[in-house]
Amino acid sequence: MRLLDGLLRAVTAFLERESGSGYPASAGDVQKVIGLLNGAPIGPGTEGTTGGSSLPALRQLEQTLREYAALPPPKRPAAVRRLLALTRGLSRQGADRSLEPDALQRPITSLRGIGPAKAKLLAKLGLVTVGDLLYHLPRKHLDRSRLTPYRALQAGCDETVQGKVVHVVERRPRPRLTVTTVLISDGTDLLPLVFFNRKHVAQKFAPGATIMASGRVERHGGGLQLNSPEFEVFDGSEPVHTGRLVPVYPATAGLTPASLRGLIARALDDHAGSLGEHLPAEARARHCLVDPATALRHIHFPPDEGSLVRARQRLVFDELFLLQAGLALLKAGRSGRGPGIAHAADGPLVARFLAALPFTLTDGQREAIADIQRDMERPQPMNRLLQGDVGSGKTAVAIYALVKAVAGGYQGALMAPTEILAEQHFLRLRPALAGLGVSVCLLAGGQAARDRQAALAALAEGLAQVVVGTHAIIQDEVRFDRLGVCVTDEQHRFGVRQRSSLAAKGLHPDVLVMTATPIPRTLALTLYGDLDLSVIRGLPPGRRPVETRWLKGSQRREAYRETIRRVAAGEQAYVVCPLVEESEKLQAEAAVSLYHRLKDDWLRGLEVGLLHGRMSSEEKELAMAAFREGTCQVLVATTVVEVGVDVANATLMVVEDAERFGLAQLHQLRGRVGRSAKPSLCLLISDAETAEAVRRLQVMQRTTDGFVIAEEDLALRGPGEFFGTRQHGLPDLKVTDILRDAAVLESAREEAFALVAADPGLRGHRQLLAEVKRRFGPGLTLAGLS
Ligand code: ADP
Ligand code: MG
Repeated sequence: MRLLDGLLRAVTAFLERESGSGYPASAGDVQKVIGLLNGAPIGPGTEGTTGGSSLPALRQLEQTLREYAALPPPKRPAAVRRLLALTRGLSRQGADRSLEPDALQRPITSLRGIGPAKAKLLAKLGLVTVGDLLYHLPRKHLDRSRLTPYRALQAGCDETVQGKVVHVVERRPRPRLTVTTVLISDGTDLLPLVFFNRKHVAQKFAPGATIMASGRVERHGGGLQLNSPEFEVFDGSEPVHTGRLVPVYPATAGLTPASLRGLIARALDDHAGSLGEHLPAEARARHCLVDPATALRHIHFPPDEGSLVRARQRLVFDELFLLQAGLALLKAGRSGRGPGIAHAADGPLVARFLAALPFTLTDGQREAIADIQRDMERPQPMNRLLQGDVGSGKTAVAIYALVKAVAGGYQGALMAPTEILAEQHFLRLRPALAGLGVSVCLLAGGQAARDRQAALAALAEGLAQVVVGTHAIIQDEVRFDRLGVCVTDEQHRFGVRQRSSLAAKGLHPDVLVMTATPIPRTLALTLYGDLDLSVIRGLPPGRRPVETRWLKGSQRREAYRETIRRVAAGEQAYVVCPLVEESEKLQAEAAVSLYHRLKDDWLRGLEVGLLHGRMSSEEKELAMAAFREGTCQVLVATTVVEVGVDVANATLMVVEDAERFGLAQLHQLRGRVGRSAKPSLCLLISDAETAEAVRRLQVMQRTTDGFVIAEEDLALRGPGEFFGTRQHGLPDLKVTDILRDAAVLESAREEAFALVAADPGLRGHRQLLAEVKRRFGPGLTLAGLS
């Protein structure tokens, strides 16, 4: 049994790692986990204390894991939650009672009336645990609270009626049609309720019973009737489907709205009462909030409109307060755990670095550097976010921080989200810093084992002063001698977990994270609320905004004629192939086929290169090197070139099937050109038809301002998708509309930060701490908060 629990813990750890780091697992990673399971003890010894064998559940877990390996990233979060619930279910069968989850985290099948078939349908909606079901919130409510006398009924209207069952008849006018007519009476008049092919429906109407029904009134023959109404037999308990404000949920095939509503009503009856209060009493009083059980009951089944509003207020406040409390804990945890490093004042090395820059710093860069200088010289650890649009020159600021750390005898680390970008940074940094006598090494996934070992040793001994790499840098085996500053480039690809994992290794370096996603303040407070903020506004002087044109598919020739013209003038071009999100393999195929079409036909005679995610690291390096050196004139690529790639001689960006890309992606892609004083051009090829796609392309034509684009993006996609909290390792916001509820965000943030300032470990607020941890999942635990 102990062995099984150990395995399950390993599976859980894997799943939590997934959800904390943006779901990166490859098929190989998943296979390793499955391999573990195959060694699981199955047979008589695994009989749980409940008496059921765990064998089928284990098989199901294994099967689901197998499917997981093939899932594209957008589908992974729901799958991980499904897997976690399965794993929990298994460990509960086992003897280890300490793994018993609280009620909200139990699998949905622990509820009355939910068997495997229903569970499967619910899983399609992402509903896996009891808590998922309780927090599956209605899209809207129907007002069925007013009862209409039969006499006042009007054909074509949705109405609710009450009456006593007088008579029930079932007819079969045709072989495949059963019509059940229930005649009800309000004392004076009669009204037929008519059901078609509803098996057993007749049994629900005992003559004499009082019922309520809601539905569309239709004219039939000379009279009115309700066709297929929702109904409820009056038994003294509170109605669920009629006679009140009735919740309407996002629909799913196979589950009627009524059955979902019934399940949620029952789950609320069983579990809402056990929800504890986690808000401090004063905060609750200050913001006039109802208790959590009431809020959850009323958001589904409000007695009246006012209750619904109050329920929503409470849930929005909860979400934002708990989110901000988590961020405050992260921040407090970092600064509270051991003193940070007080780096020395800028000395000759830093002066030499600044003097050697081939350009004059912009005001924005200078201000960011001043913020960083102040932070680094203070004994508290720096935790700063540097926001600056594509091309604003964040790299120079990053290098400043690295050099400053090295000057005082510390090491610096620079992390990038892709190998291509890490490699590029390395190639830039090494010569630039060699001139200052600073040694730089590279750590990347696809590196030869020998190079990797050498880099690891150099870091551990302090021989390497700066390391550049991908996430690999924060993996466990990497040891530093004296890590003083850690810079993360393109932070929008990194989650809370990465932010915390350095600290979890017992290191307290200064941390700078950089992002090109210019986000509105409310979003910044949400995603990066644990960080201080510097913003670089504007681009270096002399940059010309990239001209952007939208071409129809039929004008494609023009795009490639332009490519030929630019290459003839000694410039270079990117061609980004259509986006295939479903599979990396298909995406690679799309790139290869476009490559051949261009190389052999439309761009024949030009040096065309290829870059996609399925190439080996070495092949990718070669392709990038050829493009940097200019031996490759046109680079056909997937979105692997999306962030950070900097080849100033490239002045043309062609995007095929541009409507498939989001605004943020298009903006990033366009940011690959316009990196010199030469005029650059971005050609978006698209036969977009939907209004939204057209709008995206128009926005791209109209502006190059990242802030404007971010706001348009937010408006078009809605906050949920825009910032994908789960990808960031933050709790989901299910009720909050980050735009509409901005004011609540500010007050919830104030409350939460004040509370954590007064009680940094939340020792006096155990229930709150538990709830924050439940919502954040592994991100917080990693930060060392127990
Ligand atoms: P990003 O903020 O997108 O990471 P980079 O740091 O890659 O931008 O800078 C983009 C380009 O601008 C680089 O080629 C860099 O050398 C150049 N650059 C950076 N700062 C300045 C400046 N102050 N003046 C002129 N060029 C600059
Ligand atoms: Mg950059």
